[in-house]
Amino acid sequence: MFDLIVKGGTLPDGRVADIGITGARITAIGNLQEADAGEVIDATGDLVSPPFVDPHFHLDATLSYGTPRVNASGTLLEGIGLWGELKEIVTQEEMVSRALEYCDWAASMGLLAIRSHVDTCDDRLLGVAAMLEVRDKVKGYIDLQLVAFPQDGFYRDPTARDNTIRALDMGVDVAGGIPHFERTMADGAASVRELCELAAARGVPVDMHCDETDDPHSRHIETLAFEAQRLGLQGRVAGSHLTSMHSMDNYYVSKLLPLMAEAGVAAIPNPLINIMLQGRHDTFPKRRGLTRVKEMQAQGITVGWGQDCVLDPWYSLGTADMLDVAFMGLHVAQMSHPDEMRRCFDMVTTQNARILGLEGYGLHVGAQASLVVLDAGDPIEALRLRPARLAVVSKGRVIAKTPRQDASLALPGRPATIRRRHRQGG
Ligand SMILES: [Zn+2]
Repeated sequence: MFDLIVKGGTLPDGRVADIGITGARITAIGNLQEADAGEVIDATGDLVSPPFVDPHFHLDATLSYGTPRVNASGTLLEGIGLWGELKEIVTQEEMVSRALEYCDWAASMGLLAIRSHVDTCDDRLLGVAAMLEVRDKVKGYIDLQLVAFPQDGFYRDPTARDNTIRALDMGVDVAGGIPHFERTMADGAASVRELCELAAARGVPVDMHCDETDDPHSRHIETLAFEAQRLGLQGRVAGSHLTSMHSMDNYYVSKLLPLMAEAGVAAIPNPLINIMLQGRHDTFPKRRGLTRVKEMQAQGITVGWGQDCVLDPWYSLGTADMLDVAFMGLHVAQMSHPDEMRRCFDMVTTQNARILGLEGYGLHVGAQASLVVLDAGDPIEALRLRPARLAVVSKGRVIAKTPRQDASLALPGRPATIRRRHRQGG
């Protein structure tokens, strides 16, 4: 007797299997046709995947678009200035309310683990207090990791260093930074070193906004990888964005990538935001500004797609759908081969779970019973359709359902309804 059985679904690796759930764990995978269950979800013909994971987000800023005004230039720097204006007027209550609303959207999309940066450049640490409250409120259905993020610069902002340390003392999970925003390259490198030392001493992971610029001379990822190796932080450090790598000299990159691989540093490109923000100072040709995804993967570096923003000072769209993120990344990085498209799906699920260090993630006996049923036949079709999440299960509970989005047709001689599924060989 299971509490819940998800029947007949196709797993991302192509296996067709029933999944038996007891309490908050997966307790059987295989043929469970004869088994009883308190509740059954029929997933015949549908994709059943482990939940989506977002390794890079800003939950303190989300759903604030237009307050107090929109970003007119569309640049990263105006976005930072605009966020500074918003911070002056925002209340803790409002931040909690916006973040919880976004978490509702995420839950409905099967996005059940999020790493969110939280701005520590505020002497009151309102955002930190708000996000700690949110982390606690959603813990029954979303795993939320918080990164102490000195938005205005760890050294550049006079109180950021103290406030970032205070945020870690308050229970923020990960040490963050923004070396390319410091006043000099030397200060940027020094901030990376001190933040990595802080993280090593406290036993917390590191995830920095790193080289989010088109300047090929922004090379803080080199320092980040070197410090990760020096301090024995392999597997616990991530560099977010890394867009300067797009414009770096090829010889230099051929030396940099093996260092990143040896140092066990993961990369988190954010394709929706980077294709929007980068290249704004170019005329033509205009650089895409996405880091070198396929080249890093070829070196064995873990790379996950991040979402970064939804409706905030930096980005005016977004729906909490990690398939939108992978879809954009697939295009900008030209990952069109079927193996590469499947890898893009893997990047917003298992690769991101690895970056977050999630325990019990995946579809196997003993794993946490969290999964999503999609109106698609396989991962590539899921990327193509970005379809309805028919059911979302978190820690053994069905937390969201969305109906199929079939269209009805009124065309003589043609089918009455269509689903835009593609039959293999059909
Ligand atoms: Zn970010």
